[in-house]
Amino acid sequence: MEGPGRHAVVTSQNEAGRVLQIEPHAVAKLKATAVLATPPNRTGVYAPSLETAISVLFTTIAADDVAVHLGKFGPDQNHHYGRAYAGWHQEKSLALPVAQRRDCWRGAWNDMSLDTGLSFVGHTAVATVSGFIVDVASVTGASICPCGCVGVVFDLQDPSPEATARYRGRRLAVPPRGKKWT
Ligand SMILES: [Zn+2]
Repeated sequence: MEGPGRHAVVTSQNEAGRVLQIEPHAVAKLKATAVLATPPNRTGVYAPSLETAISVLFTTIAADDVAVHLGKFGPDQNHHYGRAYAGWHQEKSLALPVAQRRDCWRGAWNDMSLDTGLSFVGHTAVATVSGFIVDVASVTGASICPCGCVGVVFDLQDPSPEATARYRGRRLAVPPRGKKWT
């Protein structure tokens, strides 16, 4: 097997954006989170990775479900609800224990009211990067972050088979820029 080594074909970021029909900033986010694989110099995108992304089918977010939109993985300087890291990285996140992986994205949503958060209990939360769904979970509770911020934090469990079928390995239309959840 030939992995993404020095012989792999590289596609430009502009071309990646064109074929995925997303803006350059959304391609950059996919690269920063390793959802799209990049050469060591981070110029362009490995063509096999882009081919995989192109093949991802669209889905839509169901009424009462929530999509949260993630940026790159890194230490959580605020230590919301005691978590060490926030955001997403395709390899680093999937290497974490499930609970810690979900800690990276289950809060603290400071532009969401607690009532809104509670409305998602019993429904599904998906984590996305530039619309690409990277994780799926069932919302079993919502509360205000104990760190003293006003952010909403979800309690998450494994998703239902129906939610997995609908969302896993799919993508959503890219959310409006700046929206943390939709
Ligand atoms: Zn907090």
